[in-house]
Amino acid sequence: MASVNIFWFRRDLRLHDNTGLHHALRSGKPIVPVFIFDRNILDQLDDRKDRRVEFIHHHVSAMHSHLRSLGSSMHVFYGTPEQAFSELMKLYNIDAVYTNGDYEPYALKRDAGIHGLLLAKGIAFHSYKDHVIFEKSEVVKDDGLPYTVFTPYSKKWKARLAQEPIRHFPVDESAFLKQAERPVPDLKDMGFSPAGLDFPSMDVAAELIRKYALQRNLPGINGTSRLGVHLRFGTISIRELALKAMPLSETFLNELIWRDFYHMILWHFPRVGEGRAFKPLYENIRWRNNEEEFRKWCEGMTGYPIVDAGMRELNATGFMHNRVRMIVASFLCKHLLIDWRWGEVYFASKLLDFDLAANNGGWQWAAGSGCDAAPYFRIFNPYLQTEKFDKDLSYIRQWVPEFQEFTYPRPIVEHEVARKRCLEVYTAAVGPLSTT
Ligand code: FAD
Repeated sequence: MASVNIFWFRRDLRLHDNTGLHHALRSGKPIVPVFIFDRNILDQLDDRKDRRVEFIHHHVSAMHSHLRSLGSSMHVFYGTPEQAFSELMKLYNIDAVYTNGDYEPYALKRDAGIHGLLLAKGIAFHSYKDHVIFEKSEVVKDDGLPYTVFTPYSKKWKARLAQEPIRHFPVDESAFLKQAERPVPDLKDMGFSPAGLDFPSMDVAAELIRKYALQRNLPGINGTSRLGVHLRFGTISIRELALKAMPLSETFLNELIWRDFYHMILWHFPRVGEGRAFKPLYENIRWRNNEEEFRKWCEGMTGYPIVDAGMRELNATGFMHNRVRMIVASFLCKHLLIDWRWGEVYFASKLLDFDLAANNGGWQWAAGSGCDAAPYFRIFNPYLQTEKFDKDLSYIRQWVPEFQEFTYPRPIVEHEVARKRCLEVYTAAVGPLSTT
């Protein structure tokens, strides 16, 4: 049996600037690259045209082809990680498994299980930071406690970066194990099929980043990078993107810091990943949870054009502009008084760039229950938001072309009525004008 080390790809689907892969390839043993289509995750997806699975399949296949051109092969499994590693241990004499860290609750549990399994066979397990710039407790307050407010966190983040510049982790392609081709399972063998839609480009123009601060809030134009899905699955490197953005736009860099911030929050406050409010008082809110209204919100039929445009964009493309995410989330929690967790789950099922840490952070921000959230008495007025950010109605016209026709539904609730109701319900739960 060949004596090898394994590199296990997960949220890092690329063959360049990859921390764990870099270290694996320098380990002195030939590397077997592995990817697992994890049935624990796939079996829970209702949509058999889930585009995230298609996206992963596309990029795993591309890496596989490249490795074939080097005389190597990806080893791609469809099953559980336990099954895959049991199989690998039969095929190879494995010294160590290398991978990059993943901070979601399921991933932590999975990795602990695999680590134990390997340990029992005397196989080492090495995990590296790759998905974020700073992780865990790398950016904390002077007293060692985690930040819960973004601005001081971002200042400390930047100070640390000044001391510890971003590194590059090159990939030495000569160190992959040369072996015969191993097949990649077809999407259809796994019960999925392609949706036939394009994915966002992996590239972002320097000009877009330069103009980001001016254009990022306007959903009617292409003013944001749409790189979310690539960052989510690691088809681009966060380090390379941050290095590109730094000289071009402080505002864009700040958004990348928000991404680190929410991962840090999930790490230090795992309760947020278990469906609990960051601020416990917000568990007292008496949500109305009207199922018919929720359905209308999901379908983009609330009678508020900016809300409906966002939901229709999400349903049709798997993307929604950040400004509109904030508007529709606020509308669900505050105008309709529907539990933010319902919206969180719906977004998780639809967003191409779904990421537990950022999605949860965004939802709790909108509901007022999160760390550094908008205070609950700040309730977005969808009409004023439209006036400010979609003045020429180009975004609304694109997604709700019938918004001025009589077939378009009347508003599901009147704004002022909803605002008053929300303030009453929130005040009853968390106290008058409290920001706790
Ligand atoms: P750009 O504006 O070009 O920003 C570049 C990158 O920075 C993004 O791709 C993303 O990785 C990061 N980023 C930007 N804004 C944020 C933010 N507020 N928080 C964390 N990271 C940010 N982002 C996700 O990646 N996954 C989610 O599941 C997600 N759910 C959200 C839910 C709600 C209710 C809200 C209000 C926001 C959510 N966001 C989420 C944050 C943000 O809306 C998206 O990151 C952004 O719209 C993606 O588009 P883009 O790639 O064009 O971003």
